[in-house]
Amino acid sequence: MATTIIEPGFIQPPSIEPPFLRQPNASVLFGERSRRLMSLAEGHAMADFLRFMGHLAEAQHHALNNLGTPKLPDAEQIMLCKTHGMPPLGTQTLLRDASWREGLSTILKQVSGQANAATQAAIARIQALSETELDIFADRLLSGDYAGLDLAAAPLIGAALQVYWVRLASALEPGDFPRPDVHTLCPACGSLPTASVVRIGGVEQGLRYLHCSLCESEWNMVRIKCSHCESTKGIAYFNIDGGDEAVKAEICDECNSYLKILYMEKNMAVDPVADDLASLALDILMDEAGYQRSGPNLLLFPGSHDA
Ligand SMILES: [Zn+2]
Ligand SMILES: [Zn+2]
Repeated sequence: MATTIIEPGFIQPPSIEPPFLRQPNASVLFGERSRRLMSLAEGHAMADFLRFMGHLAEAQHHALNNLGTPKLPDAEQIMLCKTHGMPPLGTQTLLRDASWREGLSTILKQVSGQANAATQAAIARIQALSETELDIFADRLLSGDYAGLDLAAAPLIGAALQVYWVRLASALEPGDFPRPDVHTLCPACGSLPTASVVRIGGVEQGLRYLHCSLCESEWNMVRIKCSHCESTKGIAYFNIDGGDEAVKAEICDECNSYLKILYMEKNMAVDPVADDLASLALDILMDEAGYQRSGPNLLLFPGSHDA
């Protein structure tokens, strides 16, 4: 019987901690989302809508590639945020530079050819806004102040803000982000999550990450815990009978909210934004059952699409 002698270094590989925060991969994120949306559109009752969103994600990819590096917070600001557990790219504190509007302009030009009449009209309304009006629109969107907002235009503005924040979040160093006491908001930009993802592979196997609605960073949160009020009681999971097993609604009876949870084990290609858009039937079901959705999708607002 042969005996293999294992060198000491091989017996115990250095333990690798799963990352608390996963920064967005700016070079592939929107391209992969576009492909996911196009594939979800096949045979879907809302195929035209999903295909247009696929074009929008492709335009985001193009805009991101053409965007220069925006002004990042300096070392002193980053240190200050770390000391106080504040997000370094906080939507209320960060001074946006003009490049977010350049990204918007690129996106509008690229999608106008594929847009339906209602979206064409929304594009024209955005193009007629002054720089100041655009910044006010963006501020209201980022602070969740949707009352009276042009909701048909909002997803296009949201798409440009995502591009800008993804650029920022991918440009910082992993050590620049604090581990804040609040687990329900993005540690990078302070926004709410769109959904959460149970990941597969390596040290992240089986771990759940919340996916930021704005900068697309992901942060770890234990499973079977409400991503809104952090309760571990009264958590249940719903999906539509005969529907996609990879997408469920995680509901909380303590705060009466829900957020979708995606399982990579069921489908490796799931994308929080794309799969959320393709599962609106689940939102209708949750709404009818009296649950409030706890995080936004910046590409979809109530009444923002004809779909
Ligand atoms: Zn974020
Ligand atoms: Zn809750």
